[in-house]
Amino acid sequence: MDELRIVSQAATALSSEPSPNDLGDYLHHANDLKNRTRRLDVYFTILASRNIDDQAARAADQQTDEVSGTVGDKVDAVLRKISERTLAALIQQNPSLRPYQYLAHQAEQEESHSLAPAQQSILDATTQPALSSYWQLYQKIDRLPIGIKTAARAQRISPDRTVREDAWRRHWKIADAKADVDATLLFGIVKQNEAVARLEHYSDAAEAGYASRELSGAEVHASLAAIHDNLSLYQAYQRLNAARLKRALDIANPEPWDMDMLKSGPSPHFPFAEVGKIAAGALAPLGANYVHHFSALLSPSSGRVDVAAKVGNREAGGFSVNALGVPSGLYMATFTGPIDDLRVVIHEGGHSVAAQFANEGGTPSFYARGPNWLMESYAILNEFLLYDYLARTSPSPADRRYYANALLDDMMFQVFGSAEEATLEQAIYEGIASGKIQSAADLDACAYRVMKGFEPWSDDILHTSSALWSRKRLIFQDPFYLVNYMYAGIVAINLYKQAKVDPTDFPARYDALLRRGYDAPPMTLLEPLLGKGTSVTTLTTSAFGVMQNQLEKLSAPTSSIPATPAH
Ligand SMILES: [Zn+2]
Repeated sequence: MDELRIVSQAATALSSEPSPNDLGDYLHHANDLKNRTRRLDVYFTILASRNIDDQAARAADQQTDEVSGTVGDKVDAVLRKISERTLAALIQQNPSLRPYQYLAHQAEQEESHSLAPAQQSILDATTQPALSSYWQLYQKIDRLPIGIKTAARAQRISPDRTVREDAWRRHWKIADAKADVDATLLFGIVKQNEAVARLEHYSDAAEAGYASRELSGAEVHASLAAIHDNLSLYQAYQRLNAARLKRALDIANPEPWDMDMLKSGPSPHFPFAEVGKIAAGALAPLGANYVHHFSALLSPSSGRVDVAAKVGNREAGGFSVNALGVPSGLYMATFTGPIDDLRVVIHEGGHSVAAQFANEGGTPSFYARGPNWLMESYAILNEFLLYDYLARTSPSPADRRYYANALLDDMMFQVFGSAEEATLEQAIYEGIASGKIQSAADLDACAYRVMKGFEPWSDDILHTSSALWSRKRLIFQDPFYLVNYMYAGIVAINLYKQAKVDPTDFPARYDALLRRGYDAPPMTLLEPLLGKGTSVTTLTTSAFGVMQNQLEKLSAPTSSIPATPAH
């Protein structure tokens, strides 16, 4: 707590007008403060997650974020006052300033959207706490008992189809019962985001949301259009799933309540002690150095993994933590052994190892985080490699096929599933801003239209499940986050492909990518690995090709997935 007070005072005392001669020392000092807030952040995040009722840790965690924000805002303001030419001259004299060139460029780009300090402090004091309360409220509404019992997992995957259908219908009845309240909440979130976006001189909330991911509205529109143009691929995948259900359960006309049956295949349970060995095999295409880092993270003696046998009062889910000067870590609420737990370890461990590489590469804390979709792509690549590995090395042909399907499921979900979600969120904002959406029923109609564009279900099914907007928790928790997964999926599919076609050079280039952190625009970072001229458009086209291949492999009626020995 003392350290938080000291860092907080130092951030307040940080000058807003250092002289050009002092700029080097100033930036190094600011970076040091960033490093220290990151270490505090790790500590309080873990503390708060081990006990969700630890209010003191939660408050300290929030204060740490504010301090880090203060340092960032001040440095941005300082960098904006220096012209590009002056900075270039200063870098000539003092090469240790080179890493700050891109930061200065970013600060300049954001200048027209930055607010006067007085305005900013009013926003900091009001909008973030309000959004955080909206999210709390959403969760509380979710847990309100309303007289309809939520179906247990056993009912959702019951061999009795009528039991599954009943579970599915009950889920949407509960959503409908809460839709009015959820809609009120969503209107509050959307209107606040629209107002803040306009105050910051963005054309609308979507543009502001995308800009915070280093994307433009035009780019996102173009990507969504490209995905829409390739919907036949998604439809072929839906037909493949229907054929799988016909084969496995003799279901002629699949309904949404049948779909979970495909996911509850022969998946075995994995003891935690085996995870290290599987991860090492799965991640081998990333190179010996990467595997060494991942194994070090999971080593029982590392003390870097916080996982419990029971959830108890722990925060649900998993995440990674990292800060300069300390080894990165991995938190998981619990590990009970299904494939999905293994997926969480390899995904969150991927974040952790990527951060470890950046730290070892000497990346300043200012570049420790990039656009979320690029960071997510490294973690999703690990998921693909895990399924790919199990699809090659599992002893039984049924298991191999199951994991080959899981790989395709993951790719399809990231790209097409996320595109559907991103389309929905964007349509909600447009509808509310234009006054066309004014009620829960209007939101339902909006969700129905979006689903109709993507899903194979009958009108009756789509109407029954049209409270979909209220079940997308990220729309309430983190506006315009969903679009990240679409781009993360596209990039991850390309990394996966590259690791396969160029196994010799990939590891060293991937190491170099991770070590530099996020000190340049995403496509500049990816070019050395994925080729000159890499763009969102080229990556999207190539991702469709990879998905098409995997789909064809699985669609051939007599195909069996050959086994290769584990290594
Ligand atoms: Zn992630």
